[in-house]
Amino acid sequence: MILQDWWYTTLLGIKSPLQPPLRGTLRVEYLVVGAGMAGLMAALRLMAAGRRVALVERNICGGSSTGRSAGFLTPDSELELSQLLRRYGPDRARDLWDAAARGIALITEMARAHDIACDLQRQDSLFVGNGARGWHAAQAEVDARRRLGYPQTLYTAAELPSILGSTAYAGGIRYPDCYGINALQFAQGVKRVLVANGVQVYESTEAIALDDHTVRTPLGAVTAEHIVFCIDKPPAQLTRYAANVFHAQTFLAISEPLGDADVRRLFPQEPLQCWDSDLLYTYWRLTGGQRLLVGGGSALTTFALHAVRTPRVIRRVIGRFKAKFPFLARHPWIQYWPGLIDTTRDLLPTVVRDPRMPWVHWVLGCVGLPWAAFCGDFVARQVLGTAADEARYYDYFTPDRSFLVPLWAERVAGKPLVFSLNNAWAKYYQVDRTTSRT
Ligand SMILES: Cc1cc2nc3c(=O)[nH]c(=O)nc-3n(C[C@H](O)[C@H](O)[C@H](O)COP(=O)(O)OP(=O)(O)OC[C@H]3O[C@@H](n4cnc5c(N)ncnc54)[C@H](O)[C@@H]3O)c2cc1C
Repeated sequence: MILQDWWYTTLLGIKSPLQPPLRGTLRVEYLVVGAGMAGLMAALRLMAAGRRVALVERNICGGSSTGRSAGFLTPDSELELSQLLRRYGPDRARDLWDAAARGIALITEMARAHDIACDLQRQDSLFVGNGARGWHAAQAEVDARRRLGYPQTLYTAAELPSILGSTAYAGGIRYPDCYGINALQFAQGVKRVLVANGVQVYESTEAIALDDHTVRTPLGAVTAEHIVFCIDKPPAQLTRYAANVFHAQTFLAISEPLGDADVRRLFPQEPLQCWDSDLLYTYWRLTGGQRLLVGGGSALTTFALHAVRTPRVIRRVIGRFKAKFPFLARHPWIQYWPGLIDTTRDLLPTVVRDPRMPWVHWVLGCVGLPWAAFCGDFVARQVLGTAADEARYYDYFTPDRSFLVPLWAERVAGKPLVFSLNNAWAKYYQVDRTTSRT
């Protein structure tokens, strides 16, 4: 098993010329900085409105979290519906869940409308419970979905093997309207659409300073009426909102293709995208070509300050997976890769129009492709003035929300510890009492 992002491997042989870095100065109406899922969706929306748009990306489009991700497209990006319900009550929980679902719709509609080859597959979500606690978590999710009127199917331990080839789980909940995607191919496909429609896209172009309406890059500068930053790992010298974001590390591995018989044993009815109820959960799905993608992490590395690259963590994840699916014990794994997911203290994105520079928006800490898609699109529509009725999302995503452990504690106890405490609190206990514009 070698250290190599599989999605980069899938780009080999695909015609997707790199866009040159920005050299010199440029003046546009709209500048988007960062071409992950959020920035690409913002640029697409601005493009569709017929505006003069530039997009600068320090890597290649999709080259950071988006292009490392497992490509699960489910509204359950770290916060399950039951957790949103506890925290926000029914109306706002629905509001947030529907926003993530809209993110999925945006991605899938874009892939279809522009015929982007990105291994898009409809795959129902399957959340499986480990032990009695896991079974309760699955039931809580069923109750929440019933209460808010979302479809689902509950499987007991005895019923689960009809859809998943394991007898090791206490049950599970399945729900529709979810997809798997190769997000790097999607990002590169969106880049081609943007370029074909006149958006000026510059890869290998890092925004290193923001000076009034001008973003400086190593070889040039862009001046714009409106600037939308959708970047990851934001540095403090670029934005005062950098402190709102930290990262969580997860690991992925990809296997050699499964034979048809193993696919039928693993998913007796049809392929599903799965994850379990553990705090550091294991997740898996089939990619096109019947490869198995498995991901997970460890307590020591999830909030480590720096990226950890050893294969030890993913080997243990694969070991746990094999224990549940012994018939795959000898199946070979070929590549693994780690990734740092930007996150906030309560797992919801930070989206803000900078009050000191109202022409600048920040989209930070989106945990999940659907959230990123929604937030990028949301900000573009706000800038265009076409979504005034959705301004309440600024309240959900404000950088001023409160957390269990206050920020000053990070100076004493360190960001990793305080972030992990706040994350766990948001997931399992937090009840949000702030009023919003809903
Ligand atoms: C290993 C892994 C597995 C994951 N699996 C899933 C999954 O299955 N499903 C899911 O929904 N989510 C998953 N995620 C999370 C998901 O990938 C992210 O939440 C999502 O991609 C965030 O998108 P984004 O556009 O906000 O950020 P990013 O994709 O990080 O995009 C930000 C972009 O900004 C660029 N940038 C940063 N600074 C600058 C600068 N100064 N100038 C110019 N450009 C800059 C970066 O290069 C990057 O391309 C996973 C993440 C990882 C790492």
